[in-house]
Amino acid sequence: MSKLKNKVAIVTGGNSGIGFGIAEAFRNEGAVGAITGRNEATLASAADALGTGFIGIKGDVTSLSDLENTFKKTADKFGKIDVLVVNAGGVVDGFPMAAITDVTEENYDRYMDLNLKSVYFTVQKSLPYLNDGASVILIGSSAAHRAVPGMAIYSAAKAAIISLAKGLSLDLLSRKIRVNTLSPGSIDTPVFGKIVPQEQLEQVKQAWTDITPAGRQGLPSDIGHAAVFLASDDSAFIVGTEILSDGGLTNIS
Ligand code: NDP
Repeated sequence: MSKLKNKVAIVTGGNSGIGFGIAEAFRNEGAVGAITGRNEATLASAADALGTGFIGIKGDVTSLSDLENTFKKTADKFGKIDVLVVNAGGVVDGFPMAAITDVTEENYDRYMDLNLKSVYFTVQKSLPYLNDGASVILIGSSAAHRAVPGMAIYSAAKAAIISLAKGLSLDLLSRKIRVNTLSPGSIDTPVFGKIVPQEQLEQVKQAWTDITPAGRQGLPSDIGHAAVFLASDDSAFIVGTEILSDGGLTNIS
């Protein structure tokens, strides 16, 4: 069955990890559309891997003019957009997540800009190009519910996304645009290589595996399957809420 046949989708940060897993799942269900990111090389190879129905658009989600350009290009190529996944986020280049005593004002602002402000403006800039009845999926995090040392700012930004989805759903009621949050638990993506020194990588991934009741880290395809549900008409009555795909991580203390 093709749950997203003829749907036009856009996935920010679709050139890596979870975003790419979501784009693949959408492609497998018949969608076409665009992925975005700043890294031209990974963008080109990811778009290539997705096949002819997908294009890569270079852009920084913290730049409002880049966001406008991204949506215009997508709509020029495919027509109006049915599904928006606001996925780009996570670690800010050159600014590791840090203990409270080490956080500078710039560090704080960069994390909030990437993980909260850009989410709001991605949705805002998409509006002229979204079809009425579109599904907007904000990628949150289990970190909004279960604290992780040194990640307080990131966690707070992700918690605020849950509230954004509720408020935006209300604001967009007249257009029947649904906004929901999809919150992954620990997912095996390149982000771990950006946070953890290479020599500790396997140990850290194993630690996440050990504390996750499902007995493994998630895969980008796990989030892709949940995103297909939220993107499709199967979830037509799910509005302004959060779905966790975390292998039970948030059920343990
Ligand atoms: P990756 O580091 O693999 O991917 C991050 C993506 O975001 C890349 O495509 C990157 O592309 C893009 N990105 C980062 N900064 C910007 C920017 N300023 N402008 C445009 N694109 C940007 O991480 P994940 O796949 O793991 O993370 C994806 C999302 O999932 C994030 O929102 C993250 O917070 C969330 N998440 C991840 C979890 C995990 O365990 N992996 C758990 C819970 C949530 P490029 O560098 O080319 O710009």
